[in-house]
Parts: sequence; C-alpha cells; structure tokens
Amino acid sequence: MKKPNNTKRTKFIFITGGVLSSLGKGLAAASIGALMESRGLTVTFQKLDPYINVDPGTMNPFQHGEVYVTDDGAETDLDMGHYERYTNAVMAQKNNYTSGRIYYSVITKERKGEYLGGTVQVIPHITDEIKAAVLQLDGSVDIAIIEIGGTIGDIEGLPFVEAIRQLRSDLGREYSLFIHLTLVPYIKTAGEVKTKPTQHSVKELRADGIQPDILVCRTEVPLSDDLKSKIALFCNVPKDAVITAVDVDNIYKVPLHLHAEGLDSKILELLNVWTGQPNITPWEKLVKNLQNPKHEVKIAITGKYVDLTESYKSLHEALVHGGIANHAKVSLKYISAEDLESRDPSELLGDCDGILVPGGFGKRGAEGKIRAITYAREEKIPFFGICLGMQLAVVEYSRYVANIPEAHSSELNLTTPEPVIYLCKEWYDYRNEKIQVRDESSEMGGTLRLGAYPCVLKEGTFAMKAYSQDEISERHRHRYEFNNDYRQQLEDAGLLISGTSPDNNLVEIVEIADHPWFLGCQFHPEFKSKPMNPHPLFRDFIKAALNNKK
Ligand code: GLN
Repeated sequence: MKKPNNTKRTKFIFITGGVLSSLGKGLAAASIGALMESRGLTVTFQKLDPYINVDPGTMNPFQHGEVYVTDDGAETDLDMGHYERYTNAVMAQKNNYTSGRIYYSVITKERKGEYLGGTVQVIPHITDEIKAAVLQLDGSVDIAIIEIGGTIGDIEGLPFVEAIRQLRSDLGREYSLFIHLTLVPYIKTAGEVKTKPTQHSVKELRADGIQPDILVCRTEVPLSDDLKSKIALFCNVPKDAVITAVDVDNIYKVPLHLHAEGLDSKILELLNVWTGQPNITPWEKLVKNLQNPKHEVKIAITGKYVDLTESYKSLHEALVHGGIANHAKVSLKYISAEDLESRDPSELLGDCDGILVPGGFGKRGAEGKIRAITYAREEKIPFFGICLGMQLAVVEYSRYVANIPEAHSSELNLTTPEPVIYLCKEWYDYRNEKIQVRDESSEMGGTLRLGAYPCVLKEGTFAMKAYSQDEISERHRHRYEFNNDYRQQLEDAGLLISGTSPDNNLVEIVEIADHPWFLGCQFHPEFKSKPMNPHPLFRDFIKAALNNKK
C-alpha cells in the first residue's frame, strides 16, 4: 500500500493482548504514551475493536463499560478516556474503529460499485480499509500507539492482526513495533509463576505472522532474571525486551513502573528515535500526592449501574482527581438508586460528605435519585448532578420548591402534564452550525446532543468560581433538555441558572445559591478531567464535601 507523502513520518507501536482479556492493555498503551510525551515526543492513539457494533454508543454499559465521548461527538470505547487522561492527545472519531465500522464502510463502497464488480474479500479489502484507518494518523505526530482490542486467538480480531502484520512490511522496522501484553500467572499451589500461557500466546501470534518485539508481562510478583531469560528464549525476544508489569494498587503508578523496567528506552532504541532524558517528575509528584493524602472524604454515587464500576470509569477518575487537587483521598460509596426508593435516605447517605447523581438513561431508580437530591438540598450536603443528575435536580426543585408537584422529565414519564425536562424540538447547534430539529419519532441515536458545546457562565456563581472564565466548552451526551417554559417560574422560586448556551436558549448549569455547594450540569465534565489537571467542578465539589466533613 502506498504511503501518503508527509514530511513527518509517524512511528507506529502496535499493542496486542494475549492469554486473557482485562490485562490492562488500554492503561499500558496510555502509559507508553505518557512516557513518550515525557521525552518530548508527540503522540496519538487508536483503538481497533473487533466487535461488530458500528460504534459503542448503543452498547449496554453493563457489558461494555462506559461510553466515552470525544469533543467531535464520537461515542467511543472507554480506553479513549485513559489515552486522554494520561497524555495531551485529543481523541476523535478517527481514533476508534470497530470491525463493524470497517465492514460498514467496505459494504457501502461495494454497494456504490466502487470495487467495479470484483470479489470483495477480507484480504485485501477489509485489511486495506483497516490499514487506511491506521495510516490516516501518519504525519500527525511522532508516535502513534495502536491498540488491538480483544485477545490474540479470537476469530473476530484476525483481520486487524493481519492488517498490522502487513503494515510491518509496508512501514519497515524503524516505523513499526509490536508489543504484546501477556499474563505470567502466579500459581499458589506450586508457589511459582508460570510462563507457559505466555509461550502459547506468542506462538499463536507468530502463527498469525507477527513476532513481537517487546513482551510486557502482567504478573503479581516481579519476574526474576532467570524467568526473564526463560521467556526471552522461548518467545524469541531479547531479554531486555521482557518487561515486567507488576500489579499496582494505583493506576497512575503504571508509567513509572514501566519506565523503571526500561520500556521507554527499549521502544525508542528499536524505533531508532533519539530523545533527551525523560521528565517523569510530574508523575512522581502525582503518585506521591496520591499516596500521602492529608484528608479523606466520602462521596455517595447513586446510580443504576452500581454493580459495575467500569460503567462510571471517567466519573470515578474525575473524583480521584478532585481529591488530588485537595490532597484528599476520595472514597466512593456506590448506592443503588432503587434501594433509595424504599429506604430512608439518611440510612444510606448519612455517612457521606457529598452526594453525586451521575448520568444515565431510563426511569429505573429515578425516584430514588430524586429522594437523594431532596436529602442533599434539605440537609445542605454538597451535591453534584451530572446530565440525568442535573435533569432530576430540576425535577426535584420544581416539585418540592417551585410547587409544580407533577413535574417530571418526559423521558421518564412520556405523558407528564409538567415536562420540566423535555425533547427540545428546535435548537441552534453550535458545533455543527445548524438548526437541529427533533421529535419523538426521530431515530434513536441520531437525536442525541453529542460532543463539545460552548457554555457561557454567570458572574458570582459556583460555576464561575470554579472555572474562573466566562465561556467554557464541555462534552454532552443526552437527548432531553431543560424546558424554557418553566424557566421564569423556577428562577422566581430560587433556582439559579448559571450556565447557558451562548444564545441563552439551552440551560447547561443550574445551582442553588443558598447552599454550601449544589450544582447540576447538563454536560459530562468527567470526560475532561486529568490527574495532572483536575476538573474545576470536581475540585470544588470535593472541596465543599471536605468542608462538610462528618
Ligand atoms: N437520559 C437523559 C437524556 O437523554 C440523560 C442522559 C445522560 O445522563 N447522559 O437526556
């Protein structure tokens, strides 16, 4: 395949996973990115997911974890979140492909007759499409880190593996590198770690035509020199390319551990890149801060997916970052909103210093969340409502303060006589620069407000105090909006509208002024928080919770 003629050529690192899933490939990729940046190189990422869904937007967070949203409105895999949190890379639609999206594009071309009646096959048509997706990144940065989802040996992942095998020949050795993340399990009964699963996984990878350059071995205990030699011998890699990735109690330690194992130097040696010494001081400081908190704070999260914290990944991290900004350890108490429906809120929330109602879809647990909001409002406990959490805060305020007892969101009760949250039929879309029209019959996914939107803030509010600037941009993922027909009535009853779209049409942030900290936002601030740069709303929410400490 012909390469685009760019002045700067990007070097590609391909990361595959072996033995089993959940080894932390995304974190390893993000950490490698962080180490490359610490040496002054620019990086970007791409995740290639083998499943057939065209994008993860409609996937159940129970199965797949959080749907991460980018500035350009792509609904992506949660690994995009790790990439953005660990580096300065900005993710977009082009950074996440699924098999479904690749096939969709090939089939669309076939329907249009672009293959001129030829037989359309996995090789070369699907693999070429994958290669084109990868090579779009060429020229944009020094290093592109491409993570292949799933595990080597999966049928689904084969076209991706084949495509990267071909890319090695297309790009050459100094422009492509294969890193295989594998497991070296510790077997308690034998009292030793076992290398066989890694040997088998590498064998499988080699059967697909890929000889890994570096092995990153997940283990419970550090690998001895002898073991590294054994793995090196059986897997045909140099010993210094066998990297231990020992389990850590904190994900922000990973870059430091991989650096201590010499991973970044090895990568740069193999790619023939010369850089100065890495500056890992910010990561060291971060870990030191995390390990020596001066305070502790307990936050309640009342949601639907309480059983699977993966579905609140970014939220969880943003709260940790809010803690970092306040030198505080944040402990989270996940509370099922349905439990709140039948129990006294003080029983479940009484020991928490702050209450957060996160985003979500559907009516399950909604009344429980509303009870949590009433409790936070009345007991003056710092409250943070995000997306659905903001919408329910508006419903709560309407019902119990503004005297609109039947107030509801039309998402949760289609025939409510008082839809304080509703499907806004027509609005100006700043990101796409056009008027959007939508109604109940609009296509499911198509009606979501997705991606980054501008918001202007009002002086003297919690929001303004947090951001210290009057215009911000935050990421959205929702269908329903604040209903302006109720705006005056709610403002008269004391609800403070502190952030709106620049045309003042869409309400983006609501607050209660006479409260230690009560804020609901229509957007998802958690997608923009980083450990090195905690999000101002999370910082101030945790600060308020600390002040309210029990
Ligand atoms: N379900 C709500 C809506 O569609 C909120 C979505 C969310 O919290 N992300 O508007």
